[in-house]
Amino acid sequence: MVLFVVGNKYLVDNITWGRRWVLMKCAYCEYTGKMSREHIIPKGFIDHMNVEEQSVWSDKAPVRLIKGELTVKDVCADCNNRELSQLDDYALNLILKYNECLSISTKKIYFKYNYNMLVRWLLKICYNSARANDAEFDIKLYEKNVDYIMNRGCAESNITVFAIYMGSGCLSKEMAEHCYHLKNEREFEIDWFRIGPFRLTEHSTYYCASRCIIINSFAFFIVVSDKENDDELSKIRTEMEKQYKNAVELSNNGKVWLKRDDKFFLDSWTTNRVLRDNFLEKRTKKKDDRFQILTLTKEEIENDDFSKLKAMSMEFMSNKDDLLDCYQKVIIAIEGYENEDREPYQSRAFQNYFRKLFDDFPEIIWALCLDEKIITVQMMIWAYVNDNYTDDVNNTTTNIKANKNRSMQLLEKCFMAINKLVNKYAFDFSKNKDLTRRFQTVYSKTLGINESEKVM
Ligand SMILES: [Zn+2]
Repeated sequence: MVLFVVGNKYLVDNITWGRRWVLMKCAYCEYTGKMSREHIIPKGFIDHMNVEEQSVWSDKAPVRLIKGELTVKDVCADCNNRELSQLDDYALNLILKYNECLSISTKKIYFKYNYNMLVRWLLKICYNSARANDAEFDIKLYEKNVDYIMNRGCAESNITVFAIYMGSGCLSKEMAEHCYHLKNEREFEIDWFRIGPFRLTEHSTYYCASRCIIINSFAFFIVVSDKENDDELSKIRTEMEKQYKNAVELSNNGKVWLKRDDKFFLDSWTTNRVLRDNFLEKRTKKKDDRFQILTLTKEEIENDDFSKLKAMSMEFMSNKDDLLDCYQKVIIAIEGYENEDREPYQSRAFQNYFRKLFDDFPEIIWALCLDEKIITVQMMIWAYVNDNYTDDVNNTTTNIKANKNRSMQLLEKCFMAINKLVNKYAFDFSKNKDLTRRFQTVYSKTLGINESEKVM
């Protein structure tokens, strides 16, 4: 039996890198036909930047670094040249205006803006950036607000925007020189422009799209969530207040005081804690070789609590870089069964939990360290295939009756999911081969199947 078929074709959806031209629908209107090129970082801003060689990267590109300006090619010329370019002009002038009055000694600023123009523009940037990165969940949320962006209607989601005025006071003089941002004698009009998803560390942002846009001394946090989810919005506000003390929610009346925040700049620039996607700087982060331990407690297993795994999938599986970083890096540790004689996989709750996990999230085997020495992987497989179970915690017999159908399902589900993942991100075929080998080995050893019949 052939477990999977690999089509390692490089797929180009909405973005073409000079490779192929496809007839498509405009992301902002009903028009279908030839599209123009829309810059993710607006051209006007790029022209004001001192970036000698713009190296940008994209999840979709066959090589990590591409010289040139990052664009999306699913915007028609009409939308691009009219409404969207008006928004760009507005934002550029706004930022340039503040450029003149900011210096290293500015403690706070009175920020005045046209609320709808600014928010529509920020949303447009988020939407373009999400499309360029295939952030499917976010794209859907932004899409609902296209009429608002285009000034044809109201926003269909809750849109909250926070702003921070960043100082670089926390940096050494040398470092501050390097980040010419906020220098006394200014040389450049726009020093940098970054876009990236951010996460609220103590609150799952599963139901909203959150991006941060940094331009010079301004950081804008754009949080878009479903209208049905009002509760979510108040949680986001609370978390923002807690996490970013100087972030101010932009009010409708178009004016807020922004107090200088020196910490945010350090966090976002030196450690990139907040922004994970950076379009203008080469990613120099070295691949981390340490394993990530994810601990599941008995309580979580019995309560069908998948929140840690969900958070993990959101964090590691959102783009190509993160996927590569987490490949075979996660070890699941299980806690709370120490006082029982029966093996965890003999418990009904344990079995149900891991069946659900593999059924709903088979891609986990991409991240899960598939080493035969790691007992939890074996336990998970046993839990999935075992027909026997016992409610008696003192039961000492190792009672496994592998259900043949279910074990087949497990293989199919996992490999189908990995195939999709590999195709979607145009990974090298070797990844798929390596994963197949690993999974087959641990699977056969776990179920005591010999080499010749291991695939079936
Ligand atoms: Zn259009």
